[in-house]
Order: sequence, then structure tokens, then C-alpha cells
Amino acid sequence: MRKRCDEHGRFEVLISPDAETYVDQLRYNKPGDIPLEFSTEIKDGCPYDCGLCPEHKQHACVVIIEVNTGCNMACPTCLMDAGTGFNLRRDEVEIMLDTFVRTEGDPEVVQFSGGEPTLHPELLDFIQMAQDKGIRHVMVNTNGRKLVEDPEWAEKFCALNPMAYLQFDGFEEETYIKMRGESILDEKIAALEVLAAHDINTILTATIERDVNEHELSAIVEFGLKHPAVRGVMFQPVFHTGRHLEYLDPMNRVTIPEIIDRLDKGMNGTFVKSDFVPVPCCHPSCQSIAYAYVEGEDVPPLARLIDVDEYLDYITNRVWPDPEAEIRDALAGMWSSSAAPGSDTLGDNFVCATCNIDFSIPNNMAKHVFAITIKDFQDPYTFDIKKLMKCCVEIATPDGRLIPFCAYNTVGYREDIKKELMMSRARERLEKRIGIPVASPEPQAG
Ligand code: SF4
Ligand code: SF4
Ligand code: SF4
Repeated sequence: MRKRCDEHGRFEVLISPDAETYVDQLRYNKPGDIPLEFSTEIKDGCPYDCGLCPEHKQHACVVIIEVNTGCNMACPTCLMDAGTGFNLRRDEVEIMLDTFVRTEGDPEVVQFSGGEPTLHPELLDFIQMAQDKGIRHVMVNTNGRKLVEDPEWAEKFCALNPMAYLQFDGFEEETYIKMRGESILDEKIAALEVLAAHDINTILTATIERDVNEHELSAIVEFGLKHPAVRGVMFQPVFHTGRHLEYLDPMNRVTIPEIIDRLDKGMNGTFVKSDFVPVPCCHPSCQSIAYAYVEGEDVPPLARLIDVDEYLDYITNRVWPDPEAEIRDALAGMWSSSAAPGSDTLGDNFVCATCNIDFSIPNNMAKHVFAITIKDFQDPYTFDIKKLMKCCVEIATPDGRLIPFCAYNTVGYREDIKKELMMSRARERLEKRIGIPVASPEPQAG
């Protein structure tokens, strides 16, 4: 992609290894559904009116709540630039959850993130609050350290049965030193043991960096397929925001098609290129998924059991009325940002999608469905307004906005909101100390 900016000049960045692959995936662009309610007005134009503003083309499949900025690690690649900052208050989290419920009606997925969310003293209450408000799937992004260091807390966490997104970048010591600043494979394995002991559905999330761990992709999938806690793997090419600003060469970055190609070549046919299909709810270049049914050593990918293409190609194969709408809906539910591996919803969709196949269906179907998800979040180089306007992954803010994740991280929203929350916490501490209210500063003109 080539861009030109009056202030910074010309940019060139690799978004796909070849044009044909990029153009081909556009077939999967499903028309968006707008939310029940927008939270902002159109004023300065995209991406400065988030949101969601009435120009936005998709509702929120997933809402992320960053409950804190603190962390018990100091990764050099941290996109959140975790460190000192704030803990959200309970009333702020409640506003965020209520915004999601109000704007969606039937909200699907909330993800608690941070910083490291497990360090927030009220995280367990927040999980419970989200479940009580009827949000279907509650997920927690974690580096796993607290699960290992505090067994009593881990017990309470697992009793709430959230889904865990566990940071897991590979197996080599050098990988962890470069990505996380310390050698932590043993800790990751120990965290997985805790999650498996409590039957918590877990996704391994691996950040992929050029010349660091792209050779470990197949090993991560093979490990996940055999581990009793793991329902899937998520690969995220590193994106250059937060602490990870330096780009050695934007034309030499890891892309979704490259990850698929490496899995195709590295897994002896367990997963091949044609098993991966772009996700139609967001822009199809944002994300691709492959599913497989796992039964011992047998791992047939779903795309080899039915012709997923025939249903999810929204341009060339669009036939109305649709005689097999149920199958299309089941597949659209699976190829969605809100799909939650290990959940009954996903298991039911798998059964529905394969209903024409002679297939013995176990009681715990959901535990047999394995997902490989590849997400290419945008950074200032890859930033593309067309993709952003169809984003379905939003970050909630305490003032009732839902800001598309890639705008939050690249346009300056993260920095502004962090500053506001830090000032608010500082004011609260001062009020506590002196015993009288302190006025908020008036906004400065300009
Ligand atoms: S990204 Fe969406 S919500 Fe934000 S300004 Fe653009 S259209 Fe509006
Ligand atoms: S990437 Fe995650 S674990 Fe690492 S410093 Fe940032 S918040 Fe902490
Ligand atoms: S968060 Fe970024 S990569 Fe994901 S759907 Fe939104 S725009 Fe696309």
C-alpha cells in the first residue's frame, strides 16, 4: 500500500505478498449491520469522530475493556506501553458494559485487557458483572503470571469460567527474550496446567515478529492441538504502536498470507492454504480463520468437509433467496470476530454447518472444534480508513464511546484517554488526602 501525507511524505508498506491474494479476499466482504445506537456525531470526519459515529459501517462484535495500565512484565513490544497509569473504577466499567449492552441489544463478546488485567483488584467482580448483564462470552487477555503465582486467586478466577487468551509466542528462549524481555516458557506451561486443571477454554495468542519466531508457527499449532486446555491459536503479526515503534523495513513485515503459507508448508497437510477463509464481518483483509474437528490424531479441517467458499463468498456466489440460509448463518457465526472457541455457540454452529454430513457428534462437540485465527491489526503504516470504517472490535471508554481498536492505537485516542484517566485518579487521591473536592481543570481552547 502506498500513501502520501502532506506533512510526512510518502509511505510504502507491505500488506500482502501479492496483489492477487489481496484482491481475491475481497469476495468475503459481508454487508455490515449498524449498531442500535451511535455514541458520537459526524464532526471532523473519520477517524476523528469515534465512536461509533453514524458513518461507521459495522456494529461491535467484540468490545475490549482495558481495566488498567499496570503490568508485571515489561515487554519491549508492548503495544499498550504498559506501566504506571490507572486502574478503572467499578462505575466506569459498568458504564462501558452498559454502553455495549445498549448499543448492541444482544452483546456477544467482552474482552478484559490491560496492561495486565489480572492485576486489577476487582477483575473478578468485573467478570461477574459482565456475565450478569447477559454478555454471552467473557474473555480475559493475560500473560498468565498471576495464574501461576497466586493459586488461591487462580481458583476464584477459574470458578467464573471465562475464556483465557494466553500470551504464548513459541518455545525458544531467544523468542521470549526478544519479545518479552525474559525467559518464561516454563511459566507459560505452568499457566496452561492451571487452566487445563479447571477446564478453562484457552486460546494461545502469539505475536509474530520477522526474524524472531515466524519459524515457530507450526510447532505452536501442533502443541495446541494436543493440549487439553487449548481450543485454538491466534497469530498476530507484530504492529508498531506503543513501545514498539521502530520499523526496520515496512516492506519486510509478516502478513496474513505469509503466515498461512508457512503453516501450509510446515504442517504436512494438517492445515493447507485452502483451509483458511477471510472473516467477512470486518474488512476481509483484517482476519482469516481455519477450523478443524479434533478427534485424537484425526484433524479434518472444516473447509474440507463442506465448501465454506460457496456460502461465505458474498460477491460471486450470492444467490437469493437462499435455500441453505441456516448453514450460511452457522458459517457466518464461525467466521466472525465474535466466534468463541470452546463455547457451545461455536459447537452448535459446527454441528449445523456439517448437518448434511454423516458424522458422529459427541456430547462435548465444542471441545473438539479447534480454531486458527490470524489477525493483522493496523499500525500507522498499514492504517487504512476503508478497513477501519468496517471495524467490529472496539475499545470502550468511560465516557460511553466505543472506539475501533486500530483507531484507538494509532490516531492518539489511547494517549488522550490515558492522560485523562491518570489526571482523574490523581485528583481522587488528592481529594482523599485533603478531604475536600478538587475542581477538574477547564478544557483549554485549541
Ligand atoms: S472509525 Fe468509524 S466511528 Fe470512527 S470516525 Fe471513522 S466511521 Fe466514525
Ligand atoms: S505486552 Fe502484555 S504482558 Fe507485555 S508488558 Fe504489555 S501488557 Fe504486559
Ligand atoms: S481491530 Fe483493526 S484489524 Fe481488527 S477488525 Fe478492526 S480495523 Fe480490522
